[in-house]
Amino acid sequence: MRSRTNTTLGLMAGLFLAATVSGSSEGTIADSIFATDSLSDSVAVAAGQSSSDPDLYPLTPERYEKLASYSRLTNIWRFVEFFVGIATLAIILFSGLSARFRNWASKLKYKFFVVWGVLALVLIADYLLNLPLSIYRSYIVELNYEFMNQTFMQWWGEDLLALFLGVLIGIIPAWFFYWLVNQSRKWWFWFSMGAIPFLIFFIVIAPVIIMPLFNEYVPLEDKQLESKLLSLADRVGIDQPDVFQVDASKQTTKVNAMVTGLLGSKRIVLYDNLIAKFTHDEILYVMGHEMGHYVLNHMWQGLGAAVLFLMLTLWITSRTIHVIINRFKSRFRFDRLGDYASLPLVLIFVSVIMFVGQPITNGFSRWMEVKADAYGMDITDVSGEVAATAFDKLSAYNLSDPDPHPVAEFWFYDHPALKKRMAFVRNYER
Ligand SMILES: [Zn+2]
Repeated sequence: MRSRTNTTLGLMAGLFLAATVSGSSEGTIADSIFATDSLSDSVAVAAGQSSSDPDLYPLTPERYEKLASYSRLTNIWRFVEFFVGIATLAIILFSGLSARFRNWASKLKYKFFVVWGVLALVLIADYLLNLPLSIYRSYIVELNYEFMNQTFMQWWGEDLLALFLGVLIGIIPAWFFYWLVNQSRKWWFWFSMGAIPFLIFFIVIAPVIIMPLFNEYVPLEDKQLESKLLSLADRVGIDQPDVFQVDASKQTTKVNAMVTGLLGSKRIVLYDNLIAKFTHDEILYVMGHEMGHYVLNHMWQGLGAAVLFLMLTLWITSRTIHVIINRFKSRFRFDRLGDYASLPLVLIFVSVIMFVGQPITNGFSRWMEVKADAYGMDITDVSGEVAATAFDKLSAYNLSDPDPHPVAEFWFYDHPALKKRMAFVRNYER
């Protein structure tokens, strides 16, 4: 499952597809509410080793060079994708295209389908305008760094599937949004409240229905490992979880793991790449960390934080968006927020506010990660050195910079820098 898909669906769940703007950038709040925890801050859609590569751990000096250049590129692209995303939506808006989409869609009989028509056309136009850049960043760059495990057509097929899902599922928040805006001045409040059941539904169904569209989930093959994981789960009070491995190597050689589910649907998922490259003890620590998220209720806390941040974002939008509409109404060819043609403008506002607010959401996420790192130490009996090796491998295989610039970490990292995490577990006293 590609992070882009998670991000798209997660954001859509909360708010409207801003993921089409933020692209595959992680560190958005979506990942924490989705609770499909990635182990490290991984902007890469795909990263790792190509199967022909021999041993990638420990890092060789050449590979370290590669890591450094990849993380420079990653940091630059966080901005490129953001600004290009905004520019794309601005083109759709200022060219009068979104007003034209609204006119076309208005021929449909029911309002519900008019909203859906506008949503589909805006998303498709946005997708097409962004496509060259997205091919470059998400396919060619990944290929150049030898991380990509898919052919172009396989990659593109999944990209289109993600777009299709966006159009299909996005109608729910889109319709709800315009219905409220045309009903109540406090739409920002009611929308955020309405997002709660929608988000919970998503967190529960995504691992079961959506993620299997991209990957195959099968019971863990290594039965010895499975029994170790089940006894760890038992120790922390997670009752009878399903333990799956997922064929993530279909897309990438990145390593990762997660615990998903709410309200009784509990699922422990390990990437096949992780199983192949990590020792049992390292995996146990990793899963101790993941179980920590579950046991410490980070999903609920993440959900609460997401709803609060959503409310703040929409409140700011409600207070400021009219100024822009009034200023440019003749260019936009609509004069009120309740006009469906305003969709690209709403997406711009949400994206900008979320981008600016990233230090808050990522700071909260990093705080939860530290708690989970400590929890992993508390419930397993692996040594600090083994836990540190797990982080070191993560950095090596995923090419994540263990020691980023503090500003980059503050703004963009939803996990603490790996160097800090290694020091933390080495010095941890149980
Ligand atoms: Zn975590």
